[in-house]
Parts: sequence; structure tokens; C-alpha cells
Amino acid sequence: MHTKAVLFLLACFCPLPVFAWGPGHDDVNKLAVELLGDALPAAVTANVVKWAHTPDDFAPWEKLKQFRVSADDLRLLKAHKLDTAYSSHSAKGQAVEFILLVKAFKDNDPQRIAFWSACLLHPLADEAACNHDPLLHYATYAFKAGYHLKMGVGVGMDFADVARSPAGQELVRRLAVAEPPRFLPGDPDEALLAVMMSGLESNSYMTRRGTTIAASFALDATPQQMAATRTALVELGVRGATRGRDVIVAARDFARQGTIPALTPRLEAAFQRRKAAYVAARPLADDALYADLLQAQAPAGQPAVGVLVEPSINMNEACFSFGAKLLTAAAARSMQLAGVPFRLIDLRSLDKNAALTPQSISVLVVCAGPFKVGKAAKDALAAYSAAGGRFLWIGGEHAGLLGKLSENLLAAAPAELPIASQYGQDTRVAHQAQFYFLHEFQEALGSQPYRFVHNPNTKAGWQTPRCGYRLRPAEGVAVLAEMRVAGEVVPLAGACMGRDGKARAVFLPEYLLAPYLLSDEDGIANLSRPSLDKVGRRILSASLTLLGQAAVPSK
Ligand SMILES: [Zn+2]
Repeated sequence: MHTKAVLFLLACFCPLPVFAWGPGHDDVNKLAVELLGDALPAAVTANVVKWAHTPDDFAPWEKLKQFRVSADDLRLLKAHKLDTAYSSHSAKGQAVEFILLVKAFKDNDPQRIAFWSACLLHPLADEAACNHDPLLHYATYAFKAGYHLKMGVGVGMDFADVARSPAGQELVRRLAVAEPPRFLPGDPDEALLAVMMSGLESNSYMTRRGTTIAASFALDATPQQMAATRTALVELGVRGATRGRDVIVAARDFARQGTIPALTPRLEAAFQRRKAAYVAARPLADDALYADLLQAQAPAGQPAVGVLVEPSINMNEACFSFGAKLLTAAAARSMQLAGVPFRLIDLRSLDKNAALTPQSISVLVVCAGPFKVGKAAKDALAAYSAAGGRFLWIGGEHAGLLGKLSENLLAAAPAELPIASQYGQDTRVAHQAQFYFLHEFQEALGSQPYRFVHNPNTKAGWQTPRCGYRLRPAEGVAVLAEMRVAGEVVPLAGACMGRDGKARAVFLPEYLLAPYLLSDEDGIANLSRPSLDKVGRRILSASLTLLGQAAVPSK
């Protein structure tokens, strides 16, 4: 899907350029053109398809080869700090392009109508593209394209994989016709808000189908599962095309009335409020990755291991690392399989969740990544720790919440880290590093060195398991894992020990637990139900034991 060359963009947890539908964008735009009928000038419908990939271009608008953006249009884009075609992927970009499309219809300028229609259709389709589901993203860029793990044949992960056969085309038409128009509000402010909210809504629509699509990659996928995947993939493409149709028709109708919507700071603030309300209300089960785990949780009242989780928002937006959803789901499923009572703790409920007490949650698993959480959530975690709660912390950042461990986690020099901080880059360390486990971890994993079986520095994807820290040995801190590279020993993981001989907190870099990096397993039997690999299971089990959990089976 990702067909462009390696992109040298800053990637330290900033938005990263990973493309969504690949060839599927052509099929989405073809379908939209078909659904739009005579709403588009017939002479330029071919350009709506030809320009389907324009927003995946990082060039400034002025440098686009395929189309010269008019001076007037450029002025409006620049007034909103939308400098490149790639900025179409933002909600603001879509709002401004909607305005430009209204103007193009008003001026009756067919080429501009085609161009802004193509630019809008692309991101509206991207937000429903399944490679940004938290499970399928990891599968696409790490498990498949990166590590080449063996899986079932699957149906595909691009709309084009299902939209081009005669049977696929028939299904696309049938589902597209059945999708009623969702008219945009007639009020121009409300219409712009609806355009901006589209990405959030399509993201939920898409992540609800993540495991259904993943199920076709199971080694023993049934014909029924394959058919369900085909339908789900078609639904996602149809979602993009029909939303695009509705937005383009609305732009034409505003032009006919002579109304040009305007994006004001007040409206942008209103969008932020609506977005926050939408994210606050989004059911966690909309992330299909978590749906069955929610059913398998320990009953209320039974002490359990907590796993801190967050919902998807859109594209790559997340408070924790993008890979954290896969990792936490895999850890929870490994606990489920091992009979360890667990409970998913929703980040959004932290500040009001009286259930987060050491009595109910003996250990809390956190996969922190950049840990972009608000003060209330941070305070709730600090209060949990002060009351005797224990952390299994997979970093990422630690936010000073780990007592003595936090005091001794030092920023490592980029050159000594195994995971590059820049997109698409490799590191020397990834190829040379040997990881050794010590103390309780050694009992679980042996004294032999481990190497990366697959390079975590994949060329694409924003889920690479970064951690920028090394551990300084200190009194009260037990080193549990170290990396040896070029004659140097770098402590990486450790525990801060309490007076009772149990750990208060364990810190692990994300790359030690991320699936299929240190384990020699060469395939995934059922992608739709991810769990930790055998190395990860042993690390989890040893960590929980250290943290005072009763003995945990590691099989
Ligand atoms: Zn895109």
C-alpha cells in the first residue's frame, strides 16, 4: 500500500506520513463519480479519478505538477496555514477545500471542481481505510511488510483488493446503492462542522471492522469469514465514496444558493469542542481489537491486573504510542489465556474512576509512548501509586511516576538506541544489539543473549516501538535487562523494589515486549486475536510475579 520512497520527516511522535488506501483511492473516486452522476461536469470526471492521490504529495501547492492552484485559492489555503497538498488530511484542510469547492461550483470552473472534489474525496476515504485500524496498521507495516510473518492468505487490506473483480464490483454497487445520502446541514457553519467531523465518524466505522478484516488472515479462516471480510472492506470503500458524494453535492447546492461558507476561529473552536465530546462518548468497543476482551474482563469486585487503554480517534492521533493498542490488547489476551484476571481501564475514566485502587487493581499495565495525557489523568495515576498501586510500565515516557526508577531513567544518546527516532530510518544498533536478561527475568528467559529476529525499524508505519531511555543502576533499583553493543553494556529495564521485597514498579522499553521482535516464532495463527509472543509472555509473567501477583503461568 505504501508505495512512496522512504520519507525523511521528523517522526518523534509527531503526525507521520503513512498513506491509507493505496490503489483503492482510484476505485473510491470512480465510484463517487458514478454516484454523483450529472452533479459533476461530465468533461472532467476522468480528472477526479486521475487526481485521486494528490493529497499524498508533500510538495507545496505551488509545486504540484498536475494542476495549477489559482492565486485566490492559494490565498485562502495559506491564510489557514495549509501549505501542502498533504494538509488535506487534516479536518481544517477538508473544511477549507470544501469552501474552495463551493467557489469552484459558483464560478462554474470544471477543472477546479474536479481538483477540489478529488482532494476532498481522498481524505474522506482515508479515514475509513482499514490500514489505520490499530490492529491492521501493525499487521500491515510490521507483521506483513516488515517482518514477513506467515499468516493465512486473507482477502486483502486495500479497497482495490475487493473492488476490481466482477463479483466485487457487483457487491460494491449493491452496497453503494443501499447507502442513503446523509445530507449535510443547510446552515453553512453546521455544514463545515459536519465536514470536519467526518473523519472522526469514519474512523469509528472503520475500527469496528478491524478484527473482521483481520480474521481472513487466520490460517484456518472459514469461507464465511472470508466473505465477511470482503463485505467489510467493500463497506469501507463505499463509506468513503458516499461521504464524498454527500459533501460534493452539498458544495454544489451552496454554490447554487450563492452561499460561501467561511471557516472562522469561532467555528474551529466549536469543532474542537464537538471533537472532544465525540471522543469522550466513543464506546471503547468501537475498537474491535478490544471488543471481545471487554467481555472477558474480571467481574467487578474481583481484584485484577489493570490494563490502561484508550480509544482510537482518527488516523494516527493517540495519547500513548500508536502501537500501544496492539500491545495492551495482546498483553490482556495473554493474561486471559493464562487465567490471570484482568480489567481494561479506560484512560477517559481515570479521573473519575474510583475503581482504580490498589485493592481492585493490584498492578496497572501502562504502554505509555509519548504519554500525552492531561493533568487529571496523571494525578489519578500518582494517587494510585501513592496508595500502594504498582505499575508495569512499558515506555516511552514515564512522567516521573515511577519513583526511584524515574530518577534513574536517563535520556540515551540517539546513536545508542536500537529504534530510530526518525521515520523510515534504520539504526546500526538494531543489527548489533544483544539483549541479556538478569535476575527474575533470567529465570524466565535464560542467560543466553537475544537479538532482534526482525528489524523493528520498518520502512513504513508509525507504530515502531520507541523508547529513548537507559537505566542508571542505583540502590533500590534492580536491573532486569541490558543491551550489549560494541563492547558497551546499557541497562534498559528494571524494577524499583519495596521494603517487602516486591517491586513497586517495573519499567521496560517498548521494543522488549513488542510482538515478534525477540521471539523466533515465524507466523501468526489468528491475526484477529493477537497475543504476546513467547518471549513477551515470559517477560509479562516474570514482571507480574515481581510486582507481587501470585504465580502466573507463562504458557
Ligand atoms: Zn492519504
